[in-house]
Amino acid sequence: MADINLKINGMDCKAPAGSTILQAAKYNGIDIPTLCYLKDINEIGACRICVVEVKGARSLVASCVYPINEGMEVWTNSPKVLKSRKKTLQLILSDHNKSCLSCVRSGNCELQKLCKQYGVEDENLYAGVMNESEIDGTAAHMFRDNSKCILCRRCVAVCEKCQGVAVIGANERGFKTNIGSAFEVGLAETSCVCCGQCIAVCPTGALYEKDYTDDLIAALNDPEKHVFVQTAPAVRAGLGEMFGYPIGTNVEGKMAAALRRMGFDKVFDTNFSADLTIMEEGTEFIQRVQNGGVLPMITSCSPGWIKFCEHYYPDMIPNLSTCKSPQQMFGATLKTYYAEKMGLDPKSIVSVSVMPCTAKKFEIGRPDQSAAGVPDVDISITTRELGRMIQKYGIDFCNLPDEGFDDPLGEGSGAAVIFGATGGVMEAALRTVVWKLTGEKNDSPIVFNEVRGTEGIKEATYDVAGIKVNIAVASGLANARKVLDMVKSGEKQYHFIEIMACPGGCVNGGGQPQVSAAIRNFEDIRALRAKALYSIDEANTIRFSHENESIKKVYAEFFGEPGSHKAHEILHTSYVPRVINE
Ligand code: SF4
Ligand code: SF4
Ligand code: SF4
Repeated sequence: MADINLKINGMDCKAPAGSTILQAAKYNGIDIPTLCYLKDINEIGACRICVVEVKGARSLVASCVYPINEGMEVWTNSPKVLKSRKKTLQLILSDHNKSCLSCVRSGNCELQKLCKQYGVEDENLYAGVMNESEIDGTAAHMFRDNSKCILCRRCVAVCEKCQGVAVIGANERGFKTNIGSAFEVGLAETSCVCCGQCIAVCPTGALYEKDYTDDLIAALNDPEKHVFVQTAPAVRAGLGEMFGYPIGTNVEGKMAAALRRMGFDKVFDTNFSADLTIMEEGTEFIQRVQNGGVLPMITSCSPGWIKFCEHYYPDMIPNLSTCKSPQQMFGATLKTYYAEKMGLDPKSIVSVSVMPCTAKKFEIGRPDQSAAGVPDVDISITTRELGRMIQKYGIDFCNLPDEGFDDPLGEGSGAAVIFGATGGVMEAALRTVVWKLTGEKNDSPIVFNEVRGTEGIKEATYDVAGIKVNIAVASGLANARKVLDMVKSGEKQYHFIEIMACPGGCVNGGGQPQVSAAIRNFEDIRALRAKALYSIDEANTIRFSHENESIKKVYAEFFGEPGSHKAHEILHTSYVPRVINE
């Protein structure tokens, strides 16, 4: 499509036809501030921060929704524009709990940053009556503090449009408008799936995860406890952002070093149990195909997806793999196999996970997740909580040496690390399923390119040992809905489906460092973080789960064969139908 010629701030500019003023300005190196705007998700022109002057327009226009046209003249920083933005911020602050000193978002709050940029010294200029609200902490994973909500509705949009869940929206009208569950019930009373995507996109401190770092610090200081930590694949691709590294930097070595300096007795890797998952799930898939079991089989790594299935597609519970998630498989193996091997009482072990995910906080409390009679995982913290804890401990993260994980639960293959990106579990499973069925050793495992990339739905058909295997990969629960509806209507016949609750997979999980909309709107953070994981895979000398020596050992010494009775007792689980409450 032809470019459009326009003037921005008196400068001759070009931008692709169909652009908004906001996009055209960015295209020409000019940033316009936003608050409510989220590309493709929340384009409502409501907050009025992105206003600009357009020649001939009677009033300032919202640049995020205003299309460019030939010969247009725009001013993004005129005195009128700057005055308007400042006034809008002052009005927002008139009904805002300005506790920046202790706020969890202080330092990366989009509102705070704009107030500083626009010189909002008199934050109480329009002080008056303020809305009263109570913090909702009913859900297992998060808090909502509406005293810091700016009514941008990003959370509402992501919950409805990306996740297809829609359990939050606007209550009341006018000045009393507030965001929350229908009839203002606690979030726990709804069918919220605990994905945390609302937290990830919130520009302020209104939404935040339940922080368990105080419990963790207490455990680390208890001489009676053995405190072991596992870190999920995606954490290493996100954590560095909290220490100034570019998005998509792999900080695996520094993360391991930091955890050791924080006092963990052993620093292990969820990559180990991702490989274990592939051994169990691959075996389960082959058995279902060969024995006429329920197909399509659907992956069970993502607890947000599992809860979604239980609420919205309970009739498809038999399609779910019975494998526990890698987090839970790790905890179960730690408190059975490893405890036995090391002569430890499972009750003396504190099993800690660092996850890119808030739904993991819900998952650790599910029934049937206590293989040794005590919870498989005791404390699950997010990437953000780990980052804050490293800061609190005064660890000079950037200058740490790179260190490795501890044996034997710290060994993971390249197949395991790509679990963190959408399509990664499918690719890892296919690598091992092909080997199991054909016995072929494939030195070049990159044969499943169709499942890579950040598209919401991917499909492919592979010839696996003479069997045509139809697969689908979906990330973001609205996409999962589309795939499941096609399966239920008979429009599509798949054998194997991977579903991840978060768009792009765990790299974009609800517990990852928050990235401002100013970046999110113009860069694909999912692709950048995923690239880091694929680079780790490529650099790994072991790229198949079944070639992980520690995995071979755990079967030889403890579980017997994949899919054995013992493996089923410890590594598999069941699911429960749940009602829909919106
Ligand atoms: S949400 Fe932002 S502006 Fe409000 S108290 Fe927190 S840091 Fe300050
Ligand atoms: S956690 Fe997920 S499902 Fe729950 S309200 Fe937030 S976006 Fe919606
Ligand atoms: S909770 Fe956050 S994302 Fe939701 S409307 Fe309020 S400020 Fe916006």
